[in-house]
Amino acid sequence: MAEEHIPYKIYLSENELPEAWYNVRAEMKNKPAPLLNPGTHKPLSFEELRPVFCDELIKQELNDTDAYIPIPEEIRDFYRMYRPSPLVRAYCLEKKLGTPAKIYYKFEGNNTSGSHKLNSAIAQAYYAKKQGLKGVTTETGAGQWGTALSMACSYFGLDCQVYMVKVSYEQKPFRREVMRTYGASVTPSPSETTAVGRKILAEFPGTGGSLGCAISEAVEAATTQQGYRYVLGSVLSQVLLHQTVIGLETMAAMDKYGIKPDVIIGCAGGGSNLGGLISPFMGRKLRGEADYQFIAVEPASCPSFTRGKFVYDFCDTGHVCPLAKMYTLGSEFIPSPHHAGGLRYHGMSSILSQLYDDKLIEARTAEQTAVFKAAQDFARVEGILPAPESSHAIKVALDEALKCKETGEAKTILFGLTGTGYFDMYAYKAYNDGTMSDYIPTDEDLERGFAGIPRFPGNMM
Ligand SMILES: *Cc1c(COP(=O)(O)O)cnc(C)c1O
Repeated sequence: MAEEHIPYKIYLSENELPEAWYNVRAEMKNKPAPLLNPGTHKPLSFEELRPVFCDELIKQELNDTDAYIPIPEEIRDFYRMYRPSPLVRAYCLEKKLGTPAKIYYKFEGNNTSGSHKLNSAIAQAYYAKKQGLKGVTTETGAGQWGTALSMACSYFGLDCQVYMVKVSYEQKPFRREVMRTYGASVTPSPSETTAVGRKILAEFPGTGGSLGCAISEAVEAATTQQGYRYVLGSVLSQVLLHQTVIGLETMAAMDKYGIKPDVIIGCAGGGSNLGGLISPFMGRKLRGEADYQFIAVEPASCPSFTRGKFVYDFCDTGHVCPLAKMYTLGSEFIPSPHHAGGLRYHGMSSILSQLYDDKLIEARTAEQTAVFKAAQDFARVEGILPAPESSHAIKVALDEALKCKETGEAKTILFGLTGTGYFDMYAYKAYNDGTMSDYIPTDEDLERGFAGIPRFPGNMM
């Protein structure tokens, strides 16, 4: 289609909402390694996972054979409130940069939770409700996942208990109030309400908490209350599956206008938005139908892909969760307190880890002041105030567009704009005041994290 016919925003109609999620594992030659029981080091069965997770979600977690998994109509009805999300051609940004590249971004910030996390929250709440549960427990770091889950739970009338990393609980009181408005209860973690929380507090009094620690508390809360299960907003394969709605919509919109992306970029925390965006395109690549360059962007302060080890590791500090094979910095790794940009998880999706190990995707790091500079450049021309997490993808999209300016190549660049940054104004303030610093962990810092990786036969490093 002629260039002038491509609108600023490509909206699909409601009828074009995907009818099934796409499960890329079905087409991967090397499947992601199975979750292991941390005690026996044997693959976990459906029965073993049942006390912790919802039945239907376990089936999705273990399913690496069905390429398409139908999206229940009740979930599609909820999606209709804020989806399909727009695919935006960044004409203003291109002009400002003076690049021949064509830049597109898929914007997931158009809902109250302010991020893509709602796509999986509503699916997880739906399956919990369908199973007849009373409620769910979870952890939240920056707060986006807790917000999304509280919205989803209130829609289905489920109780929602959120363990929020203590530093964020204190720094982001408004996030907390959004969750409470949707009926969730929010507890700063570590807390006295769980045995694992009390143990961590006794060992590290005054700690600000971490994601790994909040996960342990939420799992304990789920397994000690009748009618509760634990849900997670990233990392797991089921979450990545739900997020493929992002990539499926993007692919449909691009196909409609005959656009083929050359480079696809996403930020990577636990890997769910990136995995969701790239999965359908990866499917085409795996089938030999098309080729794309995929780039994961992570913070230089939490470099799981670029400096981590590809081994089985604990998913949480309390070691109550299954072991996952992934790129990891060790479950005891905690990024510098000066790191403000999210994406702090020590591990990575096992699907993306396998794809990265197979050299099907690349990874780059970005330092936080450069990330906030990119966020500011973007906000000033495109209007949207991006989340710091999303801005990692913006940074690399800008780098790629500027490379095109040098070489004269008119590449088509696509990136995921996962959310808005209105609750991150302390971080923006630090950037604007010039007090933000870049801390990159030393090899010694990383060794301390690696020391916590479990050692057992077959898990050699
Ligand atoms: C949670 C979050 C991320 C990172 O999580 P992934 O699972 O890696 O996608 C990125 N952007 C925003 C806005 C988030 O809320």
